[in-house]
Amino acid sequence: MMDARQRILVVEDEANIASFVSVYLQKAGFDVGVARNGAEALAKAGTESPALIVLDLMLPDLDGIDVCRRIRQRSDVPILMLTARDDDVEKIIGLEVGADDYLTKPFNPRELVARVKSVLRRSTTRRRDPEVAALEFKALRIDSGRREVTVEGQEVQLAPKEFDLLWELLDHRGLVLTRDQLLERVWGYTFAGDTRTVDVHVGQLRRKLGEACPIVTVWGVGYKVATEPKAATASPSP
Ligand code: CA
Repeated sequence: MMDARQRILVVEDEANIASFVSVYLQKAGFDVGVARNGAEALAKAGTESPALIVLDLMLPDLDGIDVCRRIRQRSDVPILMLTARDDDVEKIIGLEVGADDYLTKPFNPRELVARVKSVLRRSTTRRRDPEVAALEFKALRIDSGRREVTVEGQEVQLAPKEFDLLWELLDHRGLVLTRDQLLERVWGYTFAGDTRTVDVHVGQLRRKLGEACPIVTVWGVGYKVATEPKAATASPSP
């Protein structure tokens, strides 16, 4: 399946963490490079062409958020951010910073490996499989080939996971999807993960799309998009 060993760049100043993460990634078949500060990370992100970057938020020189932003200016390489529990996750995975996923410290290295694989899987299927299709819901149009979302013809910028989540729900119109199902389909986790991630992304979609957001909360279960657009001002049927 993997023709060449994919290279992962691990950016972490704490030598213990960098080394156990490297060991687990190597055991999983990856080639691993380590950067111990932000400057080194920016240099190696260019020279080593990693398939994915594991980036710690707390670095001695630059903030991990700055590193992520700077990498994003020139590359779409998937970035998995290591954060502390109280960091602003919405910002990290949102468009502003642009990480693909995050993991809260302390974490289980097996979970890290699982996340790395799922982020890679998603980014390669996306590239390999340009499904040209569009879904519409009232004023909302979502084009998967161009990865573009418009409301009444105006483009709305969504982060990659926000786009995927919106697509998944619209594509299963009428069905209720649980947070675990959404995590598995959109993020590729094969075990129950941090379902707060789903809520954070739904919140962002509602904020960005406003009235045009078709996602309905099904209390105690998950989320869905109604089969028929719910017309707020519709006259009652006879
Ligand atoms: Ca650190």
